Amino acid sequence: TSRTETLEFQAETRQLLQLMVHSIYSHKDIFLRELISNASDALDKLRLESLVDSDLDVDTTDLHIELVIDPDARALTVRDNGVGMSREDVVSLIGTIARSGTAELLRKLKESKENAGNELIGQFGVGFYSTFMVADRVTLLTRRAGQTEGTRWESSGEGTYVVETVDDAPQGTSVTVHLKPADDEDNLHDYADRNTIRQIVKRYSDFISWPIRTTVPGVDDGEPTVETLNSRKALWARSRDEVAEEEYRDFYRHVSHDWTDPLETIHMRGEGTFEYEALLFLPAHAPYDLYQADGRRGVQLYVKRVFVMDDCAALMPNYLRFVKGVVDAHDLSLNISREILQQDRQIQIVRRRLVRKVLATVKEMRTGNPERFATFWAEFGRVVKEGLLEDADNTETILDLVSVASTHHDSDPTTLGEYVARMKEGQGDIYYATGENRTMLENSPHLEAFRAKGYEVLLLTDPVDEVWVERVGQFDGKPLRSIAKGQVDLETEEERKDTEVAREQQNKEYAELLTFLGGALGDTVKEVRLSSRLTTSPACIVGDAHDITPTLEKMYRAMGQ
Ligand code: ADP
Ligand code: MG
Repeated sequence: TSRTETLEFQAETRQLLQLMVHSIYSHKDIFLRELISNASDALDKLRLESLVDSDLDVDTTDLHIELVIDPDARALTVRDNGVGMSREDVVSLIGTIARSGTAELLRKLKESKENAGNELIGQFGVGFYSTFMVADRVTLLTRRAGQTEGTRWESSGEGTYVVETVDDAPQGTSVTVHLKPADDEDNLHDYADRNTIRQIVKRYSDFISWPIRTTVPGVDDGEPTVETLNSRKALWARSRDEVAEEEYRDFYRHVSHDWTDPLETIHMRGEGTFEYEALLFLPAHAPYDLYQADGRRGVQLYVKRVFVMDDCAALMPNYLRFVKGVVDAHDLSLNISREILQQDRQIQIVRRRLVRKVLATVKEMRTGNPERFATFWAEFGRVVKEGLLEDADNTETILDLVSVASTHHDSDPTTLGEYVARMKEGQGDIYYATGENRTMLENSPHLEAFRAKGYEVLLLTDPVDEVWVERVGQFDGKPLRSIAKGQVDLETEEERKDTEVAREQQNKEYAELLTFLGGALGDTVKEVRLSSRLTTSPACIVGDAHDITPTLEKMYRAMGQ
């Protein structure tokens, strides 16, 4: 039955492997974290499957990860007795790259300088393939829980791999990394050295909830001993003062596949009728798939320390999709579906609390650490503003966070509150201009009258700005008004009386010209009128108060509407 096939890696995979084989990435240690994380996932899945499906005939009494270190053969094996893979799984999961972000990663890697490339690899989390940074050959042996036939996979990372069906595979998966010759120049750690492995496991995988074991040969004629390398503490279940910053950071890297440190760590616990623990992080930079519809989002859901699902959208609204971490809810069923979760009232309550806590943390960051907030807002502000359209309950809080460019500053953004504090006497409205970029807005003739008056104007350049200013309408009781729409009245009562007389006079004087222009421009405009908003430009085009703004018009047109 040992069907042996030599198959070719998909083009994208081949490219990625090329990068790994010739990697200059300096954190090669992460290959072990990736293998252990896969093994841990496989154990989580098997545990969950056996709880949900009582017919599945597997032994789950001693789920664990085992490391076999073989200095003589220069090989390292990571073995788990988890869910395993079928032959089809192996071909589809290991032979191809399903993740939509990979093409993006490859494109960015090509564009980037060497060092940035290093960061990118960490950020994208290249998973299984990272083994080829340290290996010249990788062998995988696996058997899916509940199946009798196993599969052997082997590749040197150069274009092809071999798959073969085998009879004698133990249930679960083992990955053997045949190490490249040691090369001092390359700064490779010796991954066949027990102490090195001990340290790496401690560093990256200490919180893995399954035991990671290794057998230490006996000294002289002594018996071998089994050593457990990780302490298995679920960080979120401990109290805040029992956890070191370093541990939080390592855990963040584990859940986010990010290489940099998070901006903020939120560790909270809910007691009462519905108990939960949450450990959440605000990343320091946006992931590549932040704006992709199928991007990875949300937090992991655990039920009493048992992993239930990744990317749990029910626990975080879309506009906070960049928040990473873990929520451990104690009173849920393990086989709860995503659909039921969405409707679960308790989950909705937890979600509301998490959202409030995340927003409060951002707010504290704004006052307590403006620099850090600036980083946060530059990366995620656009997404957070989507909340003004989605989350009516927190509109006020989000509005307080909104930071936008303004004519008051050359570069620093302003909040709406700061704008209001600077408003001139007699100014009732908050003025804003929308457009593609700051330069364009600053050169707009619409701005002239405001500049002349000394009125500050917010310069909004994100497409979502158009939509939220319309939706929200006001801040602190003051209407948000586009300077490109309707009759903008910048005069006080007295000035108005004076100009009214003058305007009437002017209207008479220019009546012929206006009629002529109206006729000449025909269908393109609704009306031609004298304007009080210009000081140096001769003419400008304005929309009706109820028209959509020019940028929005463009946006709709681009969307084909
Ligand atoms: P990721 O873990 O981010 O999905 P990887 O490249 O690390 O990406 O792994 C790809 C897939 O291969 C995994 O999603 C999983 O389905 C499968 N896989 C890898 N290692 C194992 C394992 N030890 N046991 C079972 N399945 C595995
Ligand atoms: Mg993985």
